[in-house]
Amino acid sequence: MSVGEVEVGERSGWLSCAGCRQLVYGKRWTRNLGVCPFCQHHGRLTARARIAGLVDPGSFAEITAPEGAVDPLGFVDSMPYPQRLARARGATGEREAVVGGTAMVDGHPVALAVMDFRFLGGSLGTGTGELITRVAEEALARAVPVLLVPASGGARMQEGILSLLQMAKVSQALDRLHEAGLLVVSIVTDPTYGGVAASFATQADVILAEPGARLGFAGPRVIRDTIGQELPLGFQTAEFLREHGLVDLVVDRSRLPEVVGRLLAAAGRTPRAARGHGPVGAAAPAPRPLERPGRPGTDAWAVVQRARALDRPTVRDYAGRICDWFLELHGDRLGADSATVVGGLARIGDRHVVLVGTQKGHSTREVLATNFGMAGPEGYRKAIRLFSLAEKLRLPVVTLVDTPGAYPGLDAERHGQAHTIAASILRLVGLRTPVVSVITGEGGSGGALALAVADRTFMLSNAVYSVISPEGCAAILWSAQDAPRAAAALRLTAPDLLDLGVIDGVVPEPDGGAQRDPDGTAVRLRRTIEDALAALDGVDVQEVVARRRARLRAIGAPGEAAVRPPDGTVPDGERPSVGHLVGQVAR
Ligand SMILES: [Zn+2]
Repeated sequence: MSVGEVEVGERSGWLSCAGCRQLVYGKRWTRNLGVCPFCQHHGRLTARARIAGLVDPGSFAEITAPEGAVDPLGFVDSMPYPQRLARARGATGEREAVVGGTAMVDGHPVALAVMDFRFLGGSLGTGTGELITRVAEEALARAVPVLLVPASGGARMQEGILSLLQMAKVSQALDRLHEAGLLVVSIVTDPTYGGVAASFATQADVILAEPGARLGFAGPRVIRDTIGQELPLGFQTAEFLREHGLVDLVVDRSRLPEVVGRLLAAAGRTPRAARGHGPVGAAAPAPRPLERPGRPGTDAWAVVQRARALDRPTVRDYAGRICDWFLELHGDRLGADSATVVGGLARIGDRHVVLVGTQKGHSTREVLATNFGMAGPEGYRKAIRLFSLAEKLRLPVVTLVDTPGAYPGLDAERHGQAHTIAASILRLVGLRTPVVSVITGEGGSGGALALAVADRTFMLSNAVYSVISPEGCAAILWSAQDAPRAAAALRLTAPDLLDLGVIDGVVPEPDGGAQRDPDGTAVRLRRTIEDALAALDGVDVQEVVARRRARLRAIGAPGEAAVRPPDGTVPDGERPSVGHLVGQVAR
């Protein structure tokens, strides 16, 4: 904690920036929302200055709580606790370490609780916990999202065990919001430690953090004294936490209203009957006829090459084209953020969706960063987290899949690669919201399926979807040079999968592949997704899940699949069954 940290309310005169020690004129500091114009250090704000900079002007209506027992323990340190409390009240003009109320942010209603670090170090006393709980209850009563802005050293010693239990009291209030499908967002500010960090600050669906803000359970000094080691540079800062998958986004203070506004927009109740809560079997618009492309001279191996082309549009390329906006969220909340699995909230036309995809990249640097599109467990954990967020907010899920497969590696195995793929499949199978998936490039094995269990599945016309790579198959059954033969045998092209009843349609690409016309391909991709989502509008969510399970139940079941031979490219006797191949791989 920097000594001489500037706490910003209305200021005049000159201030010394705690980040760079430069002098900043007070009015400029205030105008700049307490951010240093020289080094972008985000100075501390009072709760009211924070609220003023965050909510729509004139929209804040304060919520107060009646005073409970002021000094439940009769605590005395260098002075009696009531005296300490009175001093804090006098110095800050606040009754507690938090200010709560309702407001609008970017035009969206929200209930918010903002902590004030000046008040006894933002400690979580019974009064603090009571007010935050009341804010959450108000959010529940009004069916609006809640926004929490922590700034705290932890629990309040002077209130003993009652202070500790505020963590659980606020948690139960947030749990009710989670149960009711109401979005909880927190904005981590500097510093956020102890009981606040270990409860509501990190119980949010989306955790934003200001640049440089520190969050942790134990403070750096305690850790250093305990383990006797120097801590890495930037330890516990927002940037460090973001890199380690513990916060979603680091957001400059000036951009917070915009980012929070998008989150609230996505979580808002739209008039759309859909949201999976319409009447059972409500009339859905008839889907457009499925594309049934011919297969003139389809050479499976050539399609495999096209699916893998380095200049083929990536998930990020498509996200930028099919979404009106895409707010990427980060992290598995367990210690890592995958560069391969990307996802977040997005708007496509008049719908908000959760978009998740596997990213490859175009340059050597990019493909190395994403392991050539092969995700590790942290990627699937991130996906699962986002699927659950979609379910909670009743937003449809759209997945774009382009992966050679899950990453084969020591760390991936150690951290449960198989377990997370399994968990992702299981999550999608029963996810109580519509899911639309498109294989945009390579759909490689379990690593692809983990994101591709859906109500509607599509492929781009040069995409492939297979239980194993042609090379892997050839090496096991024949020899490494026989990959083209294996590619044909596996029936992995889009028309093949349409025939096999595995996918619902094919999104056409121009001659030479999607890279020849990414914009045009994206237009067709977006239309396919929008049509598929429209067909699921108004269908009761239980019915959506029941149909999804029935679809999956029917795959490969006797008398269900009408499999046609692939134009005689593989003699029947030679066609290996999927079960046979799986057996081979498992060995
Ligand atoms: Zn500075």
